[in-house]
Parts: sequence; structure tokens; C-alpha cells
Amino acid sequence: MGINNRELSKAAFERACKVIPGGVNSPVRALKSVGTTPLFVKDAKGAYFNDIDGNKFIDFCMSWGVFILGHNNSEVSNAAIKAVLNGSSYGIPCEAETLLAEKVREAFPSMERLRFVNSGTEATMSAIRVARGYTGRDILVKFEGNYHGHADHLLVSAGSGVANISNASSAGVPSDFVKHTAVLPYNDTEALKKYFDENGDKVAALIIEPVACNMGVVPPSEEFLKLTREVTQKHGAILIFDEVITGFRLAYGGAQQRFDIKPDMTTVGKIVGGGYPAAAFGGRADIMKCLAPEGPVYQAGTLSGNPVAMAAGLATLNILSNKKVYENLEKRSDNFIERLSKIIAGKGIQLNRCGTMFTLFFNENPVRNFQDTKRSNQEKFAKYFRNMLSRGIYVSPSQFEGNFISVCHTDDVLEKVLKAIEESI
Ligand SMILES: *Cc1c(COP(=O)(O)O)cnc(C)c1O
Repeated sequence: MGINNRELSKAAFERACKVIPGGVNSPVRALKSVGTTPLFVKDAKGAYFNDIDGNKFIDFCMSWGVFILGHNNSEVSNAAIKAVLNGSSYGIPCEAETLLAEKVREAFPSMERLRFVNSGTEATMSAIRVARGYTGRDILVKFEGNYHGHADHLLVSAGSGVANISNASSAGVPSDFVKHTAVLPYNDTEALKKYFDENGDKVAALIIEPVACNMGVVPPSEEFLKLTREVTQKHGAILIFDEVITGFRLAYGGAQQRFDIKPDMTTVGKIVGGGYPAAAFGGRADIMKCLAPEGPVYQAGTLSGNPVAMAAGLATLNILSNKKVYENLEKRSDNFIERLSKIIAGKGIQLNRCGTMFTLFFNENPVRNFQDTKRSNQEKFAKYFRNMLSRGIYVSPSQFEGNFISVCHTDDVLEKVLKAIEESI
């Protein structure tokens, strides 16, 4: 393990740059903020991937949290292959859609009705449209550093890839499109109370990452998360938990199970498609009734409920619905985090963690919101990332992202990672 040669990846990147802007189909993949260029993947299995130069890496990014079962799980891959052989899209309903919807609802009882889409971006965008249609109100409240995909009205103080762009928002978004989006600081109960006291009756929806993961992992205080439920209930606003990353990760039933809070609507993505493009939004039946063809809120998709993605999602959830999976993951993560805490102690590094997700911040002070995150040292992180890479470990390439432990990150894999971290920091 470790890098010997990157010539083929470098050539592949140069070629890609001539046809794809920045050479990538999603900005963080370019590795610009950590001062290097991307590896091109040949194949992946379990906790590992190989690049086209023949280097092998332990993956801690796991397609941004998609692969809780590890890359290329054979049950999931076989289910997808079997589905492909029956045709890969119909534009006509198939039973796999209902089967996966039932399975999702089993995990998330608050999603009494749900609909599949192709990406987390579509899921949050559609959920917000439904919430606005249901309440007849316009204002959307979001939190600083929470990322909900790249729909226009959500690109306000978002984290993740957008956080590395100097203007936290994006060019190309007219100010008129974001004038109904209010942004509040994460983990700030006073600001939340005050905003709802003054404007609560005009708010259509409050959307939140119940555990923030797109400004690095930033867990909520229990009081803060509870308050999101209280103020929305009091003012008739819809509470949307964006569980695109936390769903099926922090527990089978996501953050809402872990923290025992019932939102009105939920979005899931990433894990739910088993590595294929699928996501879902859903919630209370009376709210979801607003959606066409039952109600006046329009939403549609040529490839929505794609049978290959449904089959892969179903195979994934079939494995995850065994409680033992999460118990074991949690235990192994506890051990890993305990040892990691000792390694970084006294080195000016913050370790934030929830379940199987964690981030190391090169920061002297605790990180509880986006402003804290942004004060982390970028150069030190970039160096740490490159040090890890040279030791054959691919950590998520930004302090605005999480790292993900999968069932394939066994104790001996984690042992190698700990050793590499100790050397790299
Ligand atoms: C990844 C993510 C999204 C966007 O999902 P895409 O499939 O990339 O469009 C939305 N919300 C959260 C919390 C996410 O982590």
C-alpha cells in the first residue's frame, strides 16, 4: 500500500479536463483544496479501492457515506445485475418500488408516504416544494453550514464543496431566488427561539441536517435538536430532517431514531440506493397528499424508482435491517475513536464524532458550528490529507466532510489507519 506512481491518473485527469469542467463531475473530487490532483479508480471492493496506476488504498470516504456495507457488496451487486437483465427502466410502475418504499417506511415510521427520486438534491428540493404547497407559506429556514444539495434556494451558506468557494453562496443564483431562505447558526437555541418568536407564523419549513456532516461532523446539542421540533410544531411549520447522509447510518432509522425525535418530513439518499442513483422524500400522509397526481404540487422523474437502484437498495436494507449490524459497527467505532482520541491529544486537533462518522479538525477550539469549522487550519489539513494518501489511505478530502466507517473496516484495517494518522499529523 501507498503510492508509487501516479502517472496514469495524472494523464487521465489531463484528458478529463479537456472535456469535463475541472476534470470532475462533482467539485470536491478534484482535490484542489488539498493541493493535489485526483486519483482515477479502477475498481473497489470492501474497504479498499485500486487506482489505474495499480496503487491500493483504504477508503475512508466511501463514496461520501454511501457504502456502509463496503464497496461492491456481492449481495447488492448480484441483486443489481439480476435486475438489469430484466430491463433497466420502464417508465411504468414495477413492484420493486413498492417493496423498497415499504422497507424504508419500516425503518422510518414518520415517512408514512414516500416517493423516490434520483438524488439527494431532488429529494430536498421536492420536500420543500411540498411543505410550501401544504402550508401556503414561502419562508424556508436552514442552518449555516448545512448542505441540502444544490437547488438554487438552498445554496445559501451551505457546507461541503460550496464551503471552499470564497462566496459561500454560488454565482448564477439570482438574489430573488434566495430571498425566502433564512439562515440561522447551527446549535444556537437562542437564535432559533428568537427567529420563530418573530417570524414563525410565516415559515413554511425548517430543514436541518439532524447531525451536521457537510461542515465536517458537528453533532447537535440535544436541547437544540429538540427545540427544532418544538418551535415548528408551535408555529405550524413543517420540520424536515435531511437524513440523506444520516439515514441508515446513525441507526437503521437514522438520526430521528437515535435522538427519538419525529419530524414531519424526511429525506434519505446515499445508502438507500445501495450505490445506484436513488433517494427519497416522504412524511406525514396528510402532507404527502399534496403531491401530484393526488394534489396540486408537481414533481416527476423519468428514471425515478429505477428498478436497478430499487433492487440494490432493497438488497442493502435487507442486510442492514439486522440490528446486529449497527451494534457491531458502533462497538468497533467506539474502540477506534477512543484510540484516535489518545493519538491526537494535546496536538491542537478536534475530533468530532457521531456513530460511524467523524472528522478531524485542525483547530485549537471545540467545533460546534460553521464559524468554528471555518477557523480550522486548511494548510495543516491539506498536508495531513497528502500524508495519509502517501501511506495508502484516502480520507475525505476536506474538513468540511465526514469520514465513514463501514462493516468492512475491520479491526486490522482500522489498526493500519491509526498508525498512518499517528505518523501523518
Ligand atoms: C449528499 C447530501 C445531499 C445531496 O445529495 P446528492 O445525491 O449529492 O444530490 C443532500 N443533503 C445531505 C445532508 C447530503 O449529505
